[in-house]
Amino acid sequence: MTDFDKLAMGPREGIIYPMHVPYCGNCTMPIEYCEYYPEYEKCKQWLEKNLPDEFDKMKVSDETEGGGTEEEKKRQKRGGKGIIKTKKKEDGPKRVCVSRAPRGKKKSVTVVTGLSTFDIDLKVAAKYFGTKFACGSSVTGDDEIVIQGDVKDDLFDLIPEKWSEIDEDFIEDLGDQKR
Ligand SMILES: [Zn+2]
Repeated sequence: MTDFDKLAMGPREGIIYPMHVPYCGNCTMPIEYCEYYPEYEKCKQWLEKNLPDEFDKMKVSDETEGGGTEEEKKRQKRGGKGIIKTKKKEDGPKRVCVSRAPRGKKKSVTVVTGLSTFDIDLKVAAKYFGTKFACGSSVTGDDEIVIQGDVKDDLFDLIPEKWSEIDEDFIEDLGDQKR
């Protein structure tokens, strides 16, 4: 940076220095920050007494914001409904499905889907099943675990035991599936 550049950042023509920034006598901050001060009400009282002009401006912006706040509240309400809707949507498929699928001529595998609707880490779950049943178990899809072996019936006890948020009622038996 040259000296010339430094100078260029200094006072400029057309701007009156010092720039007028009204400070609040209550919170000592520039009054535009008063609304973030916990004692904003006291700030307003101080402003009303000492800087009535600024207070009037604030009142105006307050009222505008007040309207906005109400609008926001409405939006929040709408948003709230939206959230409930989303929850309902989630509740629908929030279900673990287990099924049996043939593997070769005599063996079966057990397919578990829906664990991720309960925010369960599939890798952890697959490892857990593998350890519990002493067999192969791996994540095979976005929300699918395949356990080598027919352990479907055991899962109705095992899953709620491991993840208490998954009641046995949340587990759906899809029976035998053709793969
Ligand atoms: Zn203040």
